[in-house]
Amino acid sequence: MAADKWSDQIRACGLFFISIVVLMVIPLVYHCFVFLTALPLWGPNPASCVTLLICFHILFILLLVSYWKVIFTDAGGVPYELDEAWISELNLAHRFGLEAEVSERVSDKDENSPLTVPSAERKLDGRQRYCRKCRKFKPDRAHHCKYCGRCVLKMDHHCPWVNNCIGYCNYKYFILFCSYATITSFYVACTIFIGFITTLIERRPIQFTVVEFEYFVVFCLMVAVTVVLTGFTGFHYMLLLKNMSTIEHVEKRDPTKKDQVNPFDLGREKNWRQVFGDDVWTWFLPIAPPSSSKSVGDGVHWETNENLQQMEDQA
Ligand SMILES: [Zn+2]
Ligand SMILES: [Zn+2]
Repeated sequence: MAADKWSDQIRACGLFFISIVVLMVIPLVYHCFVFLTALPLWGPNPASCVTLLICFHILFILLLVSYWKVIFTDAGGVPYELDEAWISELNLAHRFGLEAEVSERVSDKDENSPLTVPSAERKLDGRQRYCRKCRKFKPDRAHHCKYCGRCVLKMDHHCPWVNNCIGYCNYKYFILFCSYATITSFYVACTIFIGFITTLIERRPIQFTVVEFEYFVVFCLMVAVTVVLTGFTGFHYMLLLKNMSTIEHVEKRDPTKKDQVNPFDLGREKNWRQVFGDDVWTWFLPIAPPSSSKSVGDGVHWETNENLQQMEDQA
């Protein structure tokens, strides 16, 4: 019950954060940049005005679409279910070492059964990972999110800023959202700073009006967002290139798991393609990788690296 209450609070926080961003931050930054910074340059310097506006709107649209997608794209649920009777039979079979026979019978019935999925992550006793709350077998990299109340494929974390889980289906949008938010904030902060320096060089008087106050607020906000998001986004690119989710990164800090090889690390290029797809032209656009992108997979079956296969061969 307490967990439910906590989950409700986290979800309410998520809606509050989104409301603040959509109703206050976005209109404030847009107004400050377009109406107070770029458009006044139209008379003295039309080329700068147009360039600033075009660059800003490209970044702003990419940012808003990424934000929309990361909020409204389902992170990915576990697609299959086994009924209670099969689960107890499997548990029993495991106890008597008959798992293979039962698995075969389940596989004959249903080719999508989790028991046909070769798994790199298993419980200490060798059994498939199973979620008692969802009553589903967990594929590799799936975890139960207590805020969403279900298992999520390749769960990264639950993000209150977008009021959604970040997982297999929306990780690309999340990375793009963080990237475009960082670049746009940096761009706006730099433009306001250059405007301020120009005012000082031209020795124009600085009046402390509402407009100046808006500049000051937006500048501080954009610097803060740039500083925080640069580190955060950099951290996620580092994880992406290692093919690790935040949960897997945290688990690796556990001294008993520290020396374990990451079985999903396929090298930087393949790791990148697994999230962004095989088509270079869509990498930085907030759209799903084309269906021809084989590297992306289905979120249930995960290719493992040679280290794991070698370890399995030796075992
Ligand atoms: Zn679950
Ligand atoms: Zn969640």
